[in-house]
Amino acid sequence: MKDIIIIGAGPAGVSAALYAKARGKDVLLLEKDKIGGLIANVSKVSHFAGVGDGETGPTFADRLADQVKYSDIPVLFEEATGIEKTAEGFTVQTNQGSHTAKKVIAATGNSLKELPIDLPAGFATKHWPLGQEESYAGKTVVINGGSDGASKEALYLAQKAKAVHMVQNQDKLLCIDEFKQQIEAADNIVVHTGCEVQDIKVEDGVCRAVNLGGEEITDEDGIEVYVQIGQNGNTDLLAPFAKVEGNFLAEDLAAQTEGLFFAGDIRVKTVRQIATAVADGCLAGIMACK
Ligand SMILES: Cc1cc2nc3c(=O)[nH]c(=O)nc-3n(C[C@H](O)[C@H](O)[C@H](O)COP(=O)(O)OP(=O)(O)OC[C@H]3O[C@@H](n4cnc5c(N)ncnc54)[C@H](O)[C@@H]3O)c2cc1C
Repeated sequence: MKDIIIIGAGPAGVSAALYAKARGKDVLLLEKDKIGGLIANVSKVSHFAGVGDGETGPTFADRLADQVKYSDIPVLFEEATGIEKTAEGFTVQTNQGSHTAKKVIAATGNSLKELPIDLPAGFATKHWPLGQEESYAGKTVVINGGSDGASKEALYLAQKAKAVHMVQNQDKLLCIDEFKQQIEAADNIVVHTGCEVQDIKVEDGVCRAVNLGGEEITDEDGIEVYVQIGQNGNTDLLAPFAKVEGNFLAEDLAAQTEGLFFAGDIRVKTVRQIATAVADGCLAGIMACK
């Protein structure tokens, strides 16, 4: 039996594992995909104190993975599929077996929302432009969303795309001033507010028109469609132990169930950033050692 199982190797889970391991605990980190979590995909990591100029999601995730390795934290790439409270602690079922621990820290983070419309057969929207440059270079791109994440990825797309159309259902962009100013200064970004994508028209596998209700964005050469319209908490596993409010856990770091802790973006919070995720992980990791 382990002392502490941490589910999710994003910034919150890695932080929790580091603090618990440093306190002499026998920890196990479970990750269903890759170390780094959501941030591993972003085009540029900004505003987290200490990141270097030009830090990308993948380079940040690599450094997290290195830290896990040199800190001797055991990781299993398995998806947790169930948590059971037992007399001794917890059993965590995964897609490959089960593991027991005295305590569990759940840091399962969020998944990005998809467009709430039926997509034409064979057509897929994308979330992350980094690494996709060849597919949109010189083309028209539509990106849905107007938050910090959408704005940052729009700015990245604009470096290679012919034109970037941001489609925001609110009456203005909801991003920080820094991004707003850069968007205003970019001569190939058009912001469409108060509307949303209603239809994506595809012929011969190529999208040439995106309908926004009153307005249509067209390009005979093809249009790529990206989506950054928010996130849903990965709460399924935790719903039996926690209050779920609007897709996130309305819970403190220490759950009502003794020995269970929640950390990171999965919780209801006003700010979802690496800084708040690692702060949660630090606190949950230390609390779980007590
Ligand atoms: C477009 C965009 C840009 C961003 N840019 C920045 C930025 O520049 N600076 C900044 O500070 N923040 C940024 N953020 C926010 C930042 O990514 C998050 O705040 C941070 O990743 C949250 O960390 P987390 O560990 O709580 O969750 P996540 O990063 O979501 O990690 C959760 C991990 O749990 C794993 N997992 C989920 N379910 C299971 C399961 N059942 N079993 C095993 N593993 C599981 C997932 O695979 C994932 O690896 C950005 C977010 C977006 C969307």
